[in-house]
Amino acid sequence: MPIASKTFETIRSEIAGIPISEIVAKFGTPTYVYDMAVIEERVRDLAAFDVIRYAQKACSNIGILNRLNKLGVVVDAVSVGEVKRALAAGFETHNIVFTADVFDREALALVKELGLHVNCGSPDMIEQLGNAVPGASVTLRINPGFGHGHSQKTNTGGPQSKHGIWHEDVVDCLRKADLYNVAVTGLHMHIGSGTDLEHLSQVCSALETIALQVGRTLTTISAGGGLPVPYREGQTYVDLDQYYSLWDTTRKRLENAFGHPLSLEIEPGRYLVAESGFLIAEIRAVKGMGENTFYLLDAGFNDLARPILYGAYHPISISHRNGRATKQMVDVVVGGPLCESGDIFTQEEGGFVAKRSLPAASVGDFLILEVAGAYGFVMASNYNGRYRVPEVLLENGKMHCIRTRETFEDLIRGEMIPPSSL
Ligand SMILES: *Cc1c(COP(=O)(O)O)cnc(C)c1O
Repeated sequence: MPIASKTFETIRSEIAGIPISEIVAKFGTPTYVYDMAVIEERVRDLAAFDVIRYAQKACSNIGILNRLNKLGVVVDAVSVGEVKRALAAGFETHNIVFTADVFDREALALVKELGLHVNCGSPDMIEQLGNAVPGASVTLRINPGFGHGHSQKTNTGGPQSKHGIWHEDVVDCLRKADLYNVAVTGLHMHIGSGTDLEHLSQVCSALETIALQVGRTLTTISAGGGLPVPYREGQTYVDLDQYYSLWDTTRKRLENAFGHPLSLEIEPGRYLVAESGFLIAEIRAVKGMGENTFYLLDAGFNDLARPILYGAYHPISISHRNGRATKQMVDVVVGGPLCESGDIFTQEEGGFVAKRSLPAASVGDFLILEVAGAYGFVMASNYNGRYRVPEVLLENGKMHCIRTRETFEDLIRGEMIPPSSL
């Protein structure tokens, strides 16, 4: 089980044993690749939990969902599209939970049609579900009154957060559940993304208090997601043995109180996929701007938005074309091709441009944004009329295309020019 911090190299010639030159020769740049062996290892790390429920919003390609299904992982869906993705990937309906703070009308209809279990993040959802599906059983997502994340935007608890049912409203919700003939069988908390052990473990005691209010109808408790991964030198993993044992102790106390077994779920997104993913780009310009040197890539924030959204740090490596590696390091700013000054991969929260020490490189060399598997491709857009890039799964020494590069037809699909009198 990984606890120690990771070291990141700044020169890389292969990913999952496959030379970068081969990947690029076949798929071009920019391209996302995922190393399946890393995903498998992360699933194994969490084997102590009864149920691993993947929060697919982190990386929802059906090729990856399919493999997670085969590994015995179940799935969380937050929209009609994500439910349908899970089905297309091979998940059975009883392995899909719909988690949201609101039902749009289409989602409620689909939940009813498929009989999906729902994790309700608003009191109104209990009423709406009870009307549509009398006798349904639900999980309640509770906002424990506090939260924590790597950025204010990834904090999902506390009074500033729109997520979950406020912890003081649980008794009202139980009355509502009775009124609408809904059984509360699960309890869930998710306080944020990329948090730490201290904050994660505060959730245990908060959940225990609420669980005792809900009582013996409970059969499942969920620790939520939020497990961090190291993005830079010095950052560490959470001690998973310790984390599991905190939850297991809570679970056992509740089992004693209720007199029946409780299933313990964990609901990671980032943890399962972040480190598997790499965005490979080509350096297309190297230019000086006063005291700064810029490496400008063929990938931009439309391909990987975490830096512009959160000031997120991604480790970067260089792969020299034709393997003519140089060990000379230079301080550079790394940016993309978009017509917007925020299109910088080396920026801090607030948009401040930062320099990175990277190997000297030239136009035609490849630059790899690493630990890009979570909240990477899924946040990609067509901004600036750019085609979304391919996704490739690297598995057992083979390259599997799991999404082709978009074309101009994809770009304008659904658009039309109205009749004109001009
Ligand atoms: C986003 C989300 C997760 C996963 O969060 P990570 O930080 O990626 O582990 C889990 N549960 C819910 C309800 C979420 O919204």
